[in-house]
Amino acid sequence: MIIDGKKEAALLREEIKKEIVYLKEKHNKIPGLTVILIGDFAPSQIYVRNKEKNSKEVGINSEVVKYPKDISEKEVLERIEKLNHDSNVSGILVQLPLPDQISKEKIINAINPKKDVDGFNPINVGNLASGYKSIVPCTPLGCLYLIKKAEKNLSGKHAVILGRSNLNGKPMAQLLLKENCTVTVIHSKTKDLKTECQKADILVAAVGVARLVKSDWVKKDSIIIDVGINKVGEKIVGDVDFEHVKDKVKAITPVPGGVGPMTIACLLKNTLECFKAR
Ligand code: NAP
Repeated sequence: MIIDGKKEAALLREEIKKEIVYLKEKHNKIPGLTVILIGDFAPSQIYVRNKEKNSKEVGINSEVVKYPKDISEKEVLERIEKLNHDSNVSGILVQLPLPDQISKEKIINAINPKKDVDGFNPINVGNLASGYKSIVPCTPLGCLYLIKKAEKNLSGKHAVILGRSNLNGKPMAQLLLKENCTVTVIHSKTKDLKTECQKADILVAAVGVARLVKSDWVKKDSIIIDVGINKVGEKIVGDVDFEHVKDKVKAITPVPGGVGPMTIACLLKNTLECFKAR
């Protein structure tokens, strides 16, 4: 089974759109998402443009605040504070990476946890780790959604997470623990990656190394979720050697067209949830 992230993301966007139409009729209000974009880093410009386009399509009021790359940290923090108190803004996202003069930690801490649609604020991170209700980072949330397309009941499965970033690996591990998986997190200092991966009923690869996971690393009939986005020549490939792995496993996400589209759909979902909670 090739898990079609594009199709699943479109279905999720359709659900979100319907709910926004309903909420608008009932309360005469719609969710608002403000994205702060600093500098002219090309991939960030593309991500933000996609986020804006997708938000508008589902009926979210989308605003992009653009700053030059030499903007001061103080000015950005002041803007976040205003957005925190703006009742038309349900979600705030500051596009990473940030220029050197701006502390990522300070920015993430400044966003009201109830509007933190990226789920990076330590309050949300702590709630997720404690097993409480929280806003979950968009990429792992999308991954869980795709895993469940292949397998509804994850209880007792052995999940291996390749990568331990705050963005992907760590929240993914927390989500799968909550689903009663036995979770192993592996990373660049792990002694034998291959042996660890071979134990996985569910393998989530989020390292950023092109085609690192080979066919003999994966268990037969396992579920493989490939988060990686790597440029090889003109091609975009994942962290998994898709062509050689796909026939051995039960389900796998392609790159592109797997996790990527789900990330933005989950951002819209998080924005809607923040709106509803307020
Ligand atoms: P990151 O912050 O660079 O973290 C990478 C993780 O992988 C680290 O834990 C690192 O280990 C580990 N790692 C790196 N090289 C390794 C190796 N050779 N063997 C074993 N472990 C290794 O990256 P990230 O932000 O999580 O992103 C990972 C990938 O996902 C990237 O390709 C990124 O572009 C992609 N991504 C995709 C989406 C999407 O929507 N599809 C969203 C976000 C990111 P250490 O901790 O020991 O250094």
